[in-house]
Amino acid sequence: TSAPTTAPVALPVPRDGIVGAAPYGAPQLQVEHALNVNENPYGPSAELAAAIGSAAAEAAAGLNRYPDREVLALRADLGDYLAAESGVPAPAPEAVWAANGSNEVMHQLLLAYGGPGRTALGFAPHYSMYPEYARDTYTGWEIAARGPAPEFTLTAQAVTEAIAAHRPNIVVLTSPNNPTGTALTLDVVEAAASALAGTGGLLVVDEAYGEFRRDGVPSALTLLETHPNLVVTRTMSKAFALAGARLGYLVAHPAIVDTVRVVRLPYHLSAVTQAVARTALAHREELLGKVALLRTERDALAEHLAGRGHAVAPSDANFILFRTFADRDAVFEDLLERSVLVRAVGPDGWLRVSVGTPENNAAFRSALEEADPR
Ligand code: PMP
Repeated sequence: TSAPTTAPVALPVPRDGIVGAAPYGAPQLQVEHALNVNENPYGPSAELAAAIGSAAAEAAAGLNRYPDREVLALRADLGDYLAAESGVPAPAPEAVWAANGSNEVMHQLLLAYGGPGRTALGFAPHYSMYPEYARDTYTGWEIAARGPAPEFTLTAQAVTEAIAAHRPNIVVLTSPNNPTGTALTLDVVEAAASALAGTGGLLVVDEAYGEFRRDGVPSALTLLETHPNLVVTRTMSKAFALAGARLGYLVAHPAIVDTVRVVRLPYHLSAVTQAVARTALAHREELLGKVALLRTERDALAEHLAGRGHAVAPSDANFILFRTFADRDAVFEDLLERSVLVRAVGPDGWLRVSVGTPENNAAFRSALEEADPR
């Protein structure tokens, strides 16, 4: 036998947990009705796009310099916005933190408060990235169950019992929850914060879809004054119609913000991102202007699905989780053939559809008639 003519390719071996793993992400397909990643279907007006463009151009003129590492002006603007949105006193800039999407915010929180020998607890079905933040930061990821379908409720008692059983360093609650759409009542958040208070534990309430909550549902922001172990995360990706700009943020006790600042990479938020986000916040009336319509469309779509006989999870978000009659993967494919892209997440047999424009939603409804006849 002759020797090989080329040396064997010696690729480096990734660590456990990373080797063989696939990068997270929903398919990015060219379809007429993209209803799979809970985006706001309404882009900015030409005027607002131009205003964002000139803010970016102004930032571009100074791109030889590093950006403001502390992001102070943007953090102040975010505090003002939250006061207007949730009726809380404006959080000081020192109580606000921002990063490239709430994904990065959560990653930073787990870097700072998780780690080897530590655990984080979530309630399934939950957002699929949570276990990945845990894996990346060598944090154990533990799961307790939400209540049964179709409500997927989480009660103060269930949360308290799960915390006693798992003794986590971090608890992640999501309100409204992805993929179920379920909003939490404040007693649940308070019970979790109190159960963690004596243990040095951190409570994260992920309010990525907070602005879509129904009237009368208060934000966990109202509990920050009384619960120093609470962090509320938000994003400009959903209601704010700014997914492409990548801007997420948190509000918490300034000591928690200072801890996150230890693990952030220097200059993590580009000057362009900061300028774009500040301009968007200054035009928030336009960007948030379609939230009321999306909530109305959501409720109409939920009613329509229930009227067809589907099990439907009550939603406070901009998406709806519903149970299909036929095999969900077959329904998914049939919808896709009709240029309607949804998401196969949640318990087996369920699909999640984002609320789009009235045209998107009508197309989804008629495609579903054919893809999933009752
Ligand atoms: N939290 C939840 C519950 C989400 O659904 C998402 C996005 N799908 C995120 C956080 C992250 O969003 P972003 O990084 O765009 O802020």
